[in-house]
Amino acid sequence: MDSHFQLYIDGQFEPGAATFASVNPATGEAWARMPEARTEQVNRAVEAANRALTDSAWAGLTASARGKLLYKLAGLVEKAASQLAEIETNDTGKIIRETSSQIAYVAEYYRYYGGIADKLEGSSIPVDKPDMQVWLERQPVGVVAAIVPWNSQLFLSAVKLGPALAAGCTVVLKASEEAPGPLLEFAKLVHEAGFPPGVVNVITGFGPECGAVLSSHPKVDKVAFTGGPETARHIVSNTSNNLAKVSLELGGKSPFIVFADTDIQSAVNAQVAAIFAASGQSCVAGSRLLIEASVKERFLALLVERVSRIRVGSPNEMTTEYGPLCTERQLRNIEKVVANSVRQGARVLAGGNALQRDGYYYAPTILDCTGVSNADSITTELFGPVLSVDTFTTEQEAIDKANSTVYGLAAGIFTTNLTRAHRVSRRVRSGIVWINTYRAVSPLVPFGGFGLSGHGREGGMAAALEYTTTKSVWLRTSDEPISDPFVMR
Ligand code: NAD
Repeated sequence: MDSHFQLYIDGQFEPGAATFASVNPATGEAWARMPEARTEQVNRAVEAANRALTDSAWAGLTASARGKLLYKLAGLVEKAASQLAEIETNDTGKIIRETSSQIAYVAEYYRYYGGIADKLEGSSIPVDKPDMQVWLERQPVGVVAAIVPWNSQLFLSAVKLGPALAAGCTVVLKASEEAPGPLLEFAKLVHEAGFPPGVVNVITGFGPECGAVLSSHPKVDKVAFTGGPETARHIVSNTSNNLAKVSLELGGKSPFIVFADTDIQSAVNAQVAAIFAASGQSCVAGSRLLIEASVKERFLALLVERVSRIRVGSPNEMTTEYGPLCTERQLRNIEKVVANSVRQGARVLAGGNALQRDGYYYAPTILDCTGVSNADSITTELFGPVLSVDTFTTEQEAIDKANSTVYGLAAGIFTTNLTRAHRVSRRVRSGIVWINTYRAVSPLVPFGGFGLSGHGREGGMAAALEYTTTKSVWLRTSDEPISDPFVMR
């Protein structure tokens, strides 16, 4: 069993206070022992980040020098992509085909924010007092607690670390206890890039201790969280202690709207990507198909046929298209929700069962929920490979059904009618709308949701500003001595 993984605190690698087994979801067997950070180590990581924040080794660097460190990190991530991908695949079960291409692209996020570091400009204020000069400096918001889930974790941490480091913040990054291997390995690249001790700390441990101590720590200034809404409630309540700024990237129940005028075959392929890529374990999964009634039969026939050809297999094989779920808990939850939905009247068009093989495989599943729009599979985020189908006959009905959710992360709209594409995209309540495509991301484009999908945006220039705050600096330009000390100036 692999047991080389360590925590990274204050520029040093160290073992955890305890260890725990990490399971390979493709086999159901433990493959590595991971270090667990308990309270003392979490506190030490935050203290180190707090010291580094104002230490000249980091605070004394020019913004351009911070940018160069990020460029260096980007290059190292690119070089280590295949090794990181292999660890991520072993730890999460995500197919190597996706982990290797996603990690190579993660380097672009560090490069993008490296370029932004010296463009976070302040401003000068033409203040209404003749003997004063006032300017605004952009300052780092402080110590950032970055808390991420197990899926796409190199990507989800890059959208936090990139802007945080560009802005001059320091970070304690907490990897998920479900699969911490990739981020613990990534810490070696941070070290090699030459960030001063304490600027980036990488730890892992369990939510109720490690996560709670971190997010409530009095020296944490911002919590950047990605995960589920239930955990988000804990985070918000933990931050009542330190009153830290919070950004939340949560789940979704994203609609995939198909109008009859679209290229049906192309929309079918996009729907497969939207719900069955990463075995549906994606926050933006297009898990609710809303199909115009007149093309329902044709669309579903093509979809079921395409799904029957998905290559299920070992996630370590480059030819595999579909792997296991990350945890047994998820597998059991999906079994329960699908069984409930069928009891409520949903009809199984494909899958609907766990696969008879080692590991946590669940079949790509399509449920026809026409007429049962309150089925559990339509209302709850499953974070798995289950597509619920419903129909509409008018544009307004499509919009109403798309918006009938507590979430609002993403939406897909498939139509060749340009004016309709604009109308519908404006009225769907979601942070991302993809028209005639799905699951496209870029470092330049903000990402985030409405409603229970959270708040705050990651990606783009605006995200970098989220890691800054302003400092107003007043300079008195008069040579006259200050006279009356009892009046406000
Ligand atoms: P989770 O909420 O269970 O865990 C996320 C992180 O929070 C983990 O590191 C965990 O240890 C930590 N945590 C747990 N309890 C905590 C506590 N009390 N205090 C502080 N931290 C605590 O999420 P998960 O099951 O690992 O991931 C799946 C969820 O993440 C889904 O809902 C998915 O939609 C969401 N997600 C959202 C996005 C996005 O960008 N919007 C991206 C990926 C995943």
